[in-house]
Amino acid sequence: MGKILVLATFNRHKAVEISAILPAGGPKLKTLAEFPGAAPAVEDGSTLEENAVKKAQAAARFTGEWALADDTGLEVDALGGAPGVRSARYAGEEASPSANNALLLASLAGVPPHKRTARFACVVALCSPSGAVETARGELEGSIAGAPRGAAGFGYDPLFEVQGLGLTLAELGEGRKNSLSHRARALAAILPRLSAIMV
Ligand code: IMP
Repeated sequence: MGKILVLATFNRHKAVEISAILPAGGPKLKTLAEFPGAAPAVEDGSTLEENAVKKAQAAARFTGEWALADDTGLEVDALGGAPGVRSARYAGEEASPSANNALLLASLAGVPPHKRTARFACVVALCSPSGAVETARGELEGSIAGAPRGAAGFGYDPLFEVQGLGLTLAELGEGRKNSLSHRARALAAILPRLSAIMV
């Protein structure tokens, strides 16, 4: 078996985070961007699990390699769990992170700090070259700040205050984010499987 693991993403930030979180000495990581002709999977599932599985299976099928996908959603309690599975498209198809963040702040206008609780949920899916998939989930509790803070990370990080820390993920910086994030927790949960397969 070749020791290649394809990260089923075109999001450079995600690929950098996943590479930093996975232990050294594992499979050679490639992203879909390194496979000419690869296209992003359509993320039309109704759950994070469905989308993660879809992305991992599409990448494994296209490349003939093991593939790992992640689908992440921000669930805001005061918004009934929105944007959730629609987090990437919250402010519209192809919406920029700043447009999504602006809409999130506008949607929570007037909501007091103690009612701005939220969590990041991340589902990772590992797919074999023959199409067999396993998933794992990681979550991180927090709340939505009144204004963006911090310069690290990506997406909603400047608005997401980690529970108990009072700092946003963007203020924590890469190393600390990767030690406690939803993505780190999901990857830790699937790591035994990944390690068993990739030896
Ligand atoms: P997807 O998992 O690529 O569909 O991402 C969903 C949305 O959540 C996108 O708008 C991302 O920018 C955002 N997102 C994904 N992961 C993170 C994260 O770790 N921190 C902040 N935002 C994220």
